[in-house]
Amino acid sequence: MVPSRFLWKRTLLQRGMTAAVFFLAGGITFVPHTAAQAPRPRAAAPQASQAPARPKLVVLLVVDQMRGDYVDKFLGQWTGGLKRLVEEGAWFRDAAYPYAATETCVGHATISTGAFPATHGMVANAWWDRKDQKMVTCTADPDPSVKNIGYAGATPQGADTAWRMAVPSFAEELKFQTSGATRIVTFSLKARAAITMAGHKADAATWFDGGAWVTSSPYGTLPFIEEQAKSHPAKADFGKTWSLSLPSAYWYGEKALGAVPPVGWDLTFPHPLRGKSGVGEADPDFYNQWASSPYADTALTELAEKTVDALNLGKAAGTDFLAVSYSTVDYVGHEFGPRSREIQDILVRLDKDLSNLFAHLDAKVGRGNYVVALTADHGVVPVPEDMQRTGADAGLLHLPELQERIEKALEAFRYPKPAVASVSGSDVYFAPSVYDKLQHDPAAMQAVLNAALEQPGVAAVYRAEELRDRPATESPMRRAFAYSYFPGRSGDLFILPKPYWLLDGTPTGMQRSYGTGHGVPYNYDQHVPVLLMGFGIQPGQYFQAITPADIAPTFAALCGITLSSRDGHVLAEALMKPRSFSSPPRTAAAQAAKTNP
Ligand SMILES: [Zn+2]
Repeated sequence: MVPSRFLWKRTLLQRGMTAAVFFLAGGITFVPHTAAQAPRPRAAAPQASQAPARPKLVVLLVVDQMRGDYVDKFLGQWTGGLKRLVEEGAWFRDAAYPYAATETCVGHATISTGAFPATHGMVANAWWDRKDQKMVTCTADPDPSVKNIGYAGATPQGADTAWRMAVPSFAEELKFQTSGATRIVTFSLKARAAITMAGHKADAATWFDGGAWVTSSPYGTLPFIEEQAKSHPAKADFGKTWSLSLPSAYWYGEKALGAVPPVGWDLTFPHPLRGKSGVGEADPDFYNQWASSPYADTALTELAEKTVDALNLGKAAGTDFLAVSYSTVDYVGHEFGPRSREIQDILVRLDKDLSNLFAHLDAKVGRGNYVVALTADHGVVPVPEDMQRTGADAGLLHLPELQERIEKALEAFRYPKPAVASVSGSDVYFAPSVYDKLQHDPAAMQAVLNAALEQPGVAAVYRAEELRDRPATESPMRRAFAYSYFPGRSGDLFILPKPYWLLDGTPTGMQRSYGTGHGVPYNYDQHVPVLLMGFGIQPGQYFQAITPADIAPTFAALCGITLSSRDGHVLAEALMKPRSFSSPPRTAAAQAAKTNP
């Protein structure tokens, strides 16, 4: 179910927030009036001399699945942008998501809104839709008037938007609260990243789907992206080979234990980008290889640089917003695990890309005129087979088997079969009316809980009614699930695995198609880097416990805007202190207030 307050918001956005701003050749700004914006005099904007200093550009960089400890481990091998972020920026070493659902859509929505999933409603990458009785992705939009649009003549399927995100993004708020002078552009290989970082509308939100660059109808299309898409940056990499870039100093062995590489690759370097072996063209396997290679990160970096040039970001009247979510670390991490040469090498490559990006921003926007945040949407657990070598208790929590156990337990109580509609990650969804019945049937409920607890790898099971309205609790795990709980979308029961036990949904009898994963409330999934650099940021290392939901409120403070429903707080310790607040008020309004108290 979609809360009614959000339906209202969606209608408003559909009607009103076209908010396109046209920057004419002479630098004149024109904001078209829309249904949602009452006409108002342009003189309302402050004069440049009165306006407080603001960053010219806000840059958000998300490295999908980058664990917090990658910075500690690999910093010594970086010479470029990642190193610069640590040395010139504020490094928050104890940043972690406080909630259970450590997945991509959830993390990106948290970073972009400054709210937790209990507030923003993006509870997973995909969940069971109780109304339609089917799985839906977090961005799938059933509105028939919405369509995905392909660049360079591509004809993508589906319709993806942020309509399920229940609060506006920081970027949307910035555009709205600065009279529309902000340009919002986001890129990622994933729709759920590009869309959530942008918000409900944007000048451009672009992702990669099966060889094509894609957007959807609520977002604009930009000519320079079309141009770039026509040059086929992915296809142009066909035939390249990903080889190790460091002469030595790899932490791990040649073959990552338990790894499942993409089709056409071995467990060892080098990794050729030629699709299925023997096929001489860019087939779907080639695009999977490309997405798992450093060349995808470079393509996203080039798109970001071209955006700066084509739109003259940071040169217009407002603060612009540019966001890139680098997806490749996530693909590589799922395939080879966090303890692999592939992860180490992909970060060395990303370090170089970010060096180029920052050099470009320095030249075009000006060093110190932009503020950048780099973080991740979640971490990842070591491959179970690798972890088992340490002697620690680790393994696979097989979800189809758990589902079977629950069905079996309910047989004795004559519940209609199947009683379970879906098990998606940690969320168990019952068929319509089953859970209501269970809540009034303590013996059957206990049998279900016992059956779940008997599944190898299960540490605890939480019921929805234990999580609603964020109850006060001393249990960190119950609190974590409560921060992720959004009524109507979250499951009925929630499975907490034991530490280092991977939730595995592979159907019984089939081979696991990935090395490892994430999505639970343990520090290996929750701990991520948060690095801030540039305008208004006090460099240094910070050890306060913070969350990535603090990034948007910190950006908001730097830009002088207000977020509606944040759960994060301003990272005040890393903000430069203003020189003085003692100067006398100079504006006419302040003068009037002084004389007429
Ligand atoms: Zn992710």
